[in-house]
Amino acid sequence: MTVTVATLGFPRIGPRRELKFALEKFWAGKTTQAELLDTAMGLRTAAWARQKALGADWLPSNDFSLYDHVLDTSVMLGAVPQRYGAGEVGLETYFAMARGTTGSDEGCGHAHANPQGSVTAGELTKWFDTNYHYIVPEIEPGQSLQLGTLKIVEEYREAKALGYETRPVLLGPVTWLSLAKGHGIDPFDRLDEVLGLYGEVLDRLAYSGAAWVQIDEPILVTDLSGVQRAALSRAYAALSGHGVKLMLTTYFGGLDDNLPLVATLPVAGLHVDLVRAPQQLDAVLRIVPEDLLLSLGVIDGRNVWRADLAALLDRLEPVAATRDIVIAPSCSLLHVPVDLASETRLDTQVCEWLAFGVQKVAELATLAKALNQGRDSVAEDLAASSRAAQARRSSPRIHDATVQARIAAITPQMREREAAYADRARAQAEVLGLPLFPTTTIGSFPQTAQVRHARAEHTRGNLDDAAYERFLREETERAIRWQEEVGLDVLVHGEFERNDMVQYFGEQLSGFAFTASAWVQSYGSRCVRPPILYGDVSRPAPMTVEWWRYAQSLTDKPVKGMLTGPVTILNWSFVRDDQPRSASCLQIALAIRDEVLDLEAAGCKAIQIDEAALREGLPLRAGEGQAYLDWAVDSFRLCAAGVADATQVHTHMCYSEFNEILPAIAAMDADVISIETARSQMELLEAFARYRYPSEIGPGVYDIHSARVPGEAEMVELMRLAQQHLAPEQLWVNPDCGLKTRGWEEVKPAIAAMVTAARTLRSEVAAGSARAVVEGATA
Ligand code: GLN
Ligand code: ZN
Repeated sequence: MTVTVATLGFPRIGPRRELKFALEKFWAGKTTQAELLDTAMGLRTAAWARQKALGADWLPSNDFSLYDHVLDTSVMLGAVPQRYGAGEVGLETYFAMARGTTGSDEGCGHAHANPQGSVTAGELTKWFDTNYHYIVPEIEPGQSLQLGTLKIVEEYREAKALGYETRPVLLGPVTWLSLAKGHGIDPFDRLDEVLGLYGEVLDRLAYSGAAWVQIDEPILVTDLSGVQRAALSRAYAALSGHGVKLMLTTYFGGLDDNLPLVATLPVAGLHVDLVRAPQQLDAVLRIVPEDLLLSLGVIDGRNVWRADLAALLDRLEPVAATRDIVIAPSCSLLHVPVDLASETRLDTQVCEWLAFGVQKVAELATLAKALNQGRDSVAEDLAASSRAAQARRSSPRIHDATVQARIAAITPQMREREAAYADRARAQAEVLGLPLFPTTTIGSFPQTAQVRHARAEHTRGNLDDAAYERFLREETERAIRWQEEVGLDVLVHGEFERNDMVQYFGEQLSGFAFTASAWVQSYGSRCVRPPILYGDVSRPAPMTVEWWRYAQSLTDKPVKGMLTGPVTILNWSFVRDDQPRSASCLQIALAIRDEVLDLEAAGCKAIQIDEAALREGLPLRAGEGQAYLDWAVDSFRLCAAGVADATQVHTHMCYSEFNEILPAIAAMDADVISIETARSQMELLEAFARYRYPSEIGPGVYDIHSARVPGEAEMVELMRLAQQHLAPEQLWVNPDCGLKTRGWEEVKPAIAAMVTAARTLRSEVAAGSARAVVEGATA
């Protein structure tokens, strides 16, 4: 029996983010289309050469994308909304769909569609439970789909011409339809039309010489509706007769209840994720037909840890003894950094524990050799891998007795505020003395070119600590002065000292490592460098207190303390895999709790703990949601609940889909929550009202993802809508996220209008209650 190695997709951005820079130069008009396409081809060629040299037998093609593989699929199917015009989809239309016509890729840690120009970009959303964002496919009523670009065929041929036989990667029809929005129609109404086009694509691939196609259906690891199940059967019956073998590829979880259905589909191969769902192997072996080629995803494509190869062999050897298998990463390597060898900042010990994309392919090659030729053939590699695994498990650097003792000593009371919200609100009102409709912002002020330049110079060593500190103090002081002038009620220090809301904290916590160049694509040209949480977490020293103290020393108005919450820090990091995520989250929560209490002790009266990423951590299966929410809420409460009743706890979440998680949001028991609502016309407040959300809410009235400066009247109007659902006493007036991506020239007039809007609202309420008194007297 033979074992072969496959990769399901390789990072597209290049070892040094070449794609990012090429795209940005092209968008800025500094290079031609030909130059961009040349760079892209160079990256593809290098990736094939690299994977082949590392020992991959099955090379992917069409895993590359200039922006996004879901968008590529939409364009392939001709699903191009009318607003982009008719005709051939060239690069200009493609990037218009990705970025809008004045395209500015801005976000607040997570991405938003950011329509600014005359043509709106497609909506950006997270790809399953990853931090990669795709462009949501759109199907317009009455629009007929037709074969658009044949990138998949071109890239297959390109590889072939270079001497690489590849297995083209195609996003499956049922996943594509499941992600699509139909503007009033059900995308699945278009199933047959879509299948016709997929059939044509497969025909052309077969004609070009492709033997196999990797067809990705990650939707198979989610809860499926009857419509989706029926579509799967219909789709694979239709696609089976086109002259290519299909490797049905699933990842990000187990097939579970979908396995019996999958076993009936007429495909030639099946890839399963054995990292997220190792337990499914037995059932898979039992149920799928023997002549099906099984591809086992045994190397983690979502995380950065080196595998314990000997332990994997223990599981793989019995399988490989009975049938041919392919071994592969659990999913595309898109979600991990390219190459550990280019890392300069990590300490050597942590490096020993890690494997990035390149190293993961090498691990697979070692496994395959051991399976084909016996363990002795790779004895040295296996020993090194075991040593590294053992070293990590037993390293004093990942086990901290003090942290363990503190975790063991957590009591239920530590998660409870002393009084219920209503009583706390009274105590807080006394301390803070705020008007109705208090105004505030979410934390950051514009990270201007100057701020970024100073930080870069400081990092490079060209600006010494004292000078950098002086610069940051001046920025902070200016921000405080301006906030006083404009008349905000609760001020912020502006976050000028922070590079990123997670990195800033991770760099100061023990248990985290930071990389210099371990970039991962977030969307388009946007890359992130997630911190690596490798060990027990603790906070050696206060992280934000000095900046808060300085800001508060400049004003009599309250200045909010500003922290990132434990769930968000966890969800935006690569997390150790030797203990449950909930355990790591709890440790971060304790560290943030220390900071909360230090801020309070320093005199801070209002502390905001951002949980921007709480919702996106929800598991893909509904049945697993509650367990996640339980520990996520527990962690938040642990970090927040230590303060006195009179200290106001704020939280912030930059999204608006709360319906399914409202009970959890309420259970966090924050005194004030700020959320995104500007674009949905306050609709979601209805849900908060229906749920009788008890505490205060700041529904964002200024959409900071747009360069548009909103006027006073529209903010008043939004807040009037808000009052249809919530009492004036419950409402705050604020933007819907931090202002770091905006310029001061937009922020100043927008916030001034916001403050005036709040004054108008106050006088409306005062007039309303005066009227009520008069009406009461005359009744
Ligand atoms: N306090 C952060 C800021 O204002 C919050 C950012 C976010 O929620 N993404 O930048
Ligand atoms: Zn936000």
